[in-house]
Amino acid sequence: MKQQKALQGEYVDLIIVGGGMVGLMLAVALRHTGLHIVVIERAEYQPMMSMGLDCRVSAIVQGNVNILKSVGVWQYLQDKAGLMTSMRIWDGQEQGGIRYEAAEIGEDKLGVLVENATLIQALQDTLKESENIELLCPESVASVLWKRDGVEVALESGQTFNTPLIVGADGGRSWLREQADIDVFSRDYAQKGIVATVKSRFPHQNAATQRFLDTGPLALLPMQGDRCSIVWSASNERADELLALSDEGFMDELNLEVGGVFGGIVEVGKRAAFPLQAQLARHIVRPRLALIGDAAHSIHPLAGLGVNLGLRDAMVLAQEIVDARKFGEDWGDIDVLSRYMKQRIPDVLMTMASMEALHRTFKVQLPMWIKLRGLGMKALGNAGIVKQLLMKNATGINMPVPHTIE
Ligand SMILES: Cc1cc2nc3c(=O)[nH]c(=O)nc-3n(C[C@H](O)[C@H](O)[C@H](O)COP(=O)(O)OP(=O)(O)OC[C@H]3O[C@@H](n4cnc5c(N)ncnc54)[C@H](O)[C@@H]3O)c2cc1C
Repeated sequence: MKQQKALQGEYVDLIIVGGGMVGLMLAVALRHTGLHIVVIERAEYQPMMSMGLDCRVSAIVQGNVNILKSVGVWQYLQDKAGLMTSMRIWDGQEQGGIRYEAAEIGEDKLGVLVENATLIQALQDTLKESENIELLCPESVASVLWKRDGVEVALESGQTFNTPLIVGADGGRSWLREQADIDVFSRDYAQKGIVATVKSRFPHQNAATQRFLDTGPLALLPMQGDRCSIVWSASNERADELLALSDEGFMDELNLEVGGVFGGIVEVGKRAAFPLQAQLARHIVRPRLALIGDAAHSIHPLAGLGVNLGLRDAMVLAQEIVDARKFGEDWGDIDVLSRYMKQRIPDVLMTMASMEALHRTFKVQLPMWIKLRGLGMKALGNAGIVKQLLMKNATGINMPVPHTIE
C-alpha cells in the first residue's frame, strides 16, 4: 500500500470555520471533552443598534432554551432575554386567526427573544474558561487541503494545522462549502426582511404576533424593556420603498399593517434589511467535512427557526464526535459524519417544507382560498391534541436532540 506523507501543521482535534451562533455552539457543546478545538472567525460581530437593541434578533424556541440551559449558556442570557409566553398568528385578509399559549403544552413560555449580539457574547463567555478551545478572530482560512488521513489548513496569518475534521459554520455564503465544491439548491423569495426595534403604546405582555400580509409576514417580537423587534418580509420593491421612508412615514405604514396591536406603534428605531433566501447544500457531509447551520441550510425567517435548526445541528454533531472517540473511531470518517447527517435531515427537510407551505398558503389571494384559510386556522385553533402536537414540534420540546454531551 502507498504510504501517505505525514500531514503538515500542528495537530488539532477539530477546526470550526465560522464563530457565529452555530459554530460557537458546537465549541460550547464540546468544551468539557478535552478535545483541542480551533474556531476561526473572520470578523468580530458588529451589532446594528436600533433603539438600544441589536436589530438582529433570534426567537429561540423552548426546546433550545432547555439545551442552552444544559450546556451552561443560559446563565449569561437569562437577564437579557425577552420572554414569549403566547403567540398570535392571523391573516391580513381575515379576522380571527390562531393563538398559542405556553400553558397549553405545560410550559411557562414558548421561547425567548435574544439579540444576536447577546447570544454570541453569551456563547463566548461560556467558552472563556475553556483552555482547550481557541477562538481566532479576526482570522481567515487561506487554503484547505483534504487528504485521506486528515485536512491541512493554512490560515491567512501563516499558522498551519492538520485535523481529522473541519466543520463549516460560516453561514449561507459558506466559503468552506465552496472550497469543497458543494452546490446548493436555492430559492430566492425576491423579498427582504426589514428589521427594527419599535415601541408600542401598551405593554406587549410577552406576546408575539405575526400577521400574514399580501406582501409577506410581519412579526412583532416581545423584547425586554417593553420594546418589540419587528421582522417585516416584503417584496424587494416594497421593502426598498419602506426603507426610503422617514421614521414617521415608516411608522404610519407599520401602523396600517399591525392593525392596532398593543395600541399601535409610537416609536421606531433604525431599520436594516436582509435579502431572504432558502437554501440547502446538496451534501452536508463529505469525508472530513461537515456543514452546520446556515452553511448547510437557510430558511425563510417567517417562523424564526433558522438558528434553532443550527443549534440542533451543533448538538447532534457534537454527540457523534464524542461517541466516535469513545469507540475508537475516526470522527472525520464519512460513516461517522453520515450518522450526523441522517439524524438531521428529517428535521431540516420538514422545517423547510413547512416554511415553503406556509409561505405559499398565505401568498394566494383568491377570495375562496382566503375564506378556506380562515376556516382552517379556526379549525386548528379548536383542534386540541393536534394543536398541542404542532406546538410541541414547533417549540422543539419533542426533538430527539442531546441536551448535554457525554
Ligand atoms: C431577518 C432575519 C430574521 C431572522 N430571525 C430568526 C429567528 O427569529 N430565529 C431563528 O432561529 N433564526 C432567525 N433567522 C435566521 C438566523 O439568523 C440564521 O439561521 C443564523 O444566523 C445562522 O447562524 P450561523 O452561525 O449558521 O451563520 P451566521 O450567523 O451567518 O454566522 C456565520 C459566521 O461565520 C463567519 N464567517 C463567514 N465566512 C467566514 C470565513 N471564510 N472564515 C471565517 N469566518 C467566516 C461570519 O463572520 C459569521 O460570524 C433570521 C434571519 C433573518 C435574515
